[in-house]
This record gives sequence, C-alpha cells and structure tokens, in this order.
Amino acid sequence: MGDTVLKIGGSSLASAEGFRQAAKVIRNDSKRRYIIVSAPGKRPKEDMKVTDLLRSLRSTQHPIDTMRAVKERFVEIAKGLEFEQDFVDFLAASLDEAEARFKKLRCETRFDYIESRGEYLSALMLAKVLGSDWQCIDATKLIRFSISGQYDAIMTRRAFRRAKLSGNVVIPGYYGCDSRGRIHTFSRGGSDITGAVVAAMIGADLYENATDVPGVYVANPNMLVMTPTLIGRMSYSQMQEMAYRGANVLHYEAIYPVREARIPTRLFGLLTPNNLGTYIYPDDDKRAYSDHCITGITEKPGFTMFSITKPGMNADDQFTLKALSALSGYGLGYDHITTGLDTLDIIVPDDKIGDRREAIAQTIRDMCSADVNLTSEVGIVCVVGQDLGKSFVKVTHILNTLAVRGIEPIFYELGGSRTNLVIGVAQVRLRETVGAIYEYMFRNHL
Ligand code: ASP
Repeated sequence: MGDTVLKIGGSSLASAEGFRQAAKVIRNDSKRRYIIVSAPGKRPKEDMKVTDLLRSLRSTQHPIDTMRAVKERFVEIAKGLEFEQDFVDFLAASLDEAEARFKKLRCETRFDYIESRGEYLSALMLAKVLGSDWQCIDATKLIRFSISGQYDAIMTRRAFRRAKLSGNVVIPGYYGCDSRGRIHTFSRGGSDITGAVVAAMIGADLYENATDVPGVYVANPNMLVMTPTLIGRMSYSQMQEMAYRGANVLHYEAIYPVREARIPTRLFGLLTPNNLGTYIYPDDDKRAYSDHCITGITEKPGFTMFSITKPGMNADDQFTLKALSALSGYGLGYDHITTGLDTLDIIVPDDKIGDRREAIAQTIRDMCSADVNLTSEVGIVCVVGQDLGKSFVKVTHILNTLAVRGIEPIFYELGGSRTNLVIGVAQVRLRETVGAIYEYMFRNHL
C-alpha cells in the first residue's frame, strides 16, 4: 500500500487541543507518513490567525506588538502541549531570531520570510508532539520557486530527488525558496498547494486535506437556513470550478498537481476522521460521479460589470480586443464576458479594480468609441453539475425558480464546459438566490 499525504489546516491547529487531535488522527493510520501543516488559525471568534498577524507587518506601525502577539500564541500552545521549558524557550528564541533577520533584510521577500515562520514553527511543534520517529523537514529543502517568486515544478522535482525522503515527516506548508535561498510564499491558503505538490512528488496513493469542516458542502452553510448536505464525491474539474467560484474549502491551485498525477483527494473534518468526507477523483474516473445532477452551488460577491454599447459593434472584428486591451492596460483580466449584437458586458472582480473604476470606464470609452455603463455590487452564483448542459429542462427550472421569487439575473450562461451554470445577480440577493436553488435541488432530489 502506498503513502498518504495529509495536510492539516490552521483552524484545526489553533490550540494545544488541535495539535493533540491531529497527532491522534495521524497515528490512527500508518499510511499517513507525510504531514503538511498550516500556521495556527483563529480560535473560535477570538483573535487573529498567526498568518494575518505576521502579514500585518507589511503595514503596521507597531511591529514589536505584532511579534509579541505571535510569540504569545506559540508559547501558549507549546505550554498547553506540556513541552519542556527548553523547547518553549527554543520556539520563542526562533521568533526573536526571525524578527532580527526580518529587520536586517532589505529585499521585498522579507515579508514572505517572516510570514512563513507561522508554518515553520507549527511543523516543529507537530513533529515534537508526534515523537522521535518523526522528523520535521523544512520546506526550503523541497519546494522551489523562481527568482521572481513563481512555483517551479522542475526544480522542486529535483529537490525531492535529492532529499530522498523516506516517511514520517512533517513539512511546513505555504512556502519554499528560490535558488538564492530567499523564501517565497504561495498565495493565501497555499498550504493546500504544498500538500498537493508533496503528494504528486512522492507518488502518494491519496492526498488528504483535513479542516474544521466535515468535507465540501453542496452550498455554503452561511447562505442557507437549513444545513446543506455534503458532497460525497466529485471530479477535479468540478472541485476546481467550485473552488474558483467561491467555495473556500480548498485552494483551487492545489488541484493541478494531484490531478496531473491522478491522485484522489479526500477532504474531511479533523474532528470526525471516521466520516468519509468528500472524495475528488480524476475527471475520467467513474468514481467521480454520483447520480446527482447538481453537484454544488457556490457564490461570490464583489464584481463590477462594464456594459459597453455601440451600434454595429459586431461589424468591428477588433472591438472585443480593444475593450480587453483597455482593461489589460490596468493589469486587469476579466472574470466573465457576455456578448450581444450591440453590447459587450465584461465582469471584473472589485478587489482587482480598487478605486480605478471611473478611470477604467473612461479608457474603454476612449479606446472603443463606445458608451460604457457600470453596474456595481454584482454577485455571481455558480451551479456545478456533471450533465447540466445536457439537461436544459433543469436549467430552465432553476431560472424559473428565481423568476417566481422576483430574482432577476443580470446575466446567466452555461459555461463552455457545459458543466456549470453561471448566474449574475444583485449582490444583496445572493443569499436568496443560493437558498432558492438549493431548495429546488433538495426538493427534487437533484
Ligand atoms: N497560513 C497561510 C494562510 O493563512 C497558508 C495556509 O494556511 O494555507 O493563508
């Protein structure tokens, strides 16, 4: 039997209790020999995630207070785990050293360096809890980035070959280093990516991802009155679509390495390890599909729609190109496009636009010689389902369900792969929209 790579999320490692539970789950299955950890997350309601604290060093006027808060978190967890005082002191001293090094460093990557310390110390602590037959291997020995900070799969493969890992290792997630030894982090939530990379590199049989939720819900529980059911199994394409469109349970870039290596992923709750959770399989694997027509529903707020109108626009074969290059001049792509004879609607996420909305609209007007209207506060709902494209009747029913509630889509479209229905609605109606679709699905056993 091959090995399992298990990644444990930060919310499950927010306290000494979480570390103990993690160790119990790891010991329960001897195949779990490669463990990837996040930095301690939020304890219910209180405090900040360690990564958020460290990240605040980018802007805070009080770096000393920040580092003190980080140290307190680690020391508290370490004491809760009843580590001997020497080890607690060692953890505190590591943070002092990191702070001193951070202050000395002049390069941009110093922020990545200090941010990576959350995962680094988390991994040291878990290895210590697991005992002497476990070792902690620093991610800088395995995960490689280019000088400009892009993940480098070729160099990572070489590093793995050189490291000749043999099981029972804990590896910090979220970061790696470039050829000059500088640390770079993945984007937020990136320990999921580390886990997937390790699974692919060692040729694992299974990639497990444990969090504080029992798996992937059919819809976001915060959007519903009733508790949604869990998705038992799904394909990588479906998971990727859901992750990209707002399901926060797995980083969508964590799908590429395992998908390519054809390694199934299991998402489960660290507190309920015996429940199956959600399994994700390659697209051409029969196990990926259940008889449910709808796999999941996701939602995301915070989009602006640029509606560009010009009579006879379709006669100008450069028109779309001009509109997109206007956006690209601002370093922007788009999330979604719909077209008509005289109109082109381009939907862009607000967090990328910032306060440049009007300037962008004006640039499009100038470059396209067209009218541009803005619709703000657009939300996008995505219904993911294997055969959605083939069951036009169901798509009609979904839209009808919204119509009878007076929810008027700003746009809707069956995605290119025919496995998703994307619906733009006023952001204030997102909750109602998700609720209505879930209820329809639930009532009709879809
Ligand atoms: N600690 C990092 C974050 O909060 C990475 C991770 O948890 O995956 O984004």
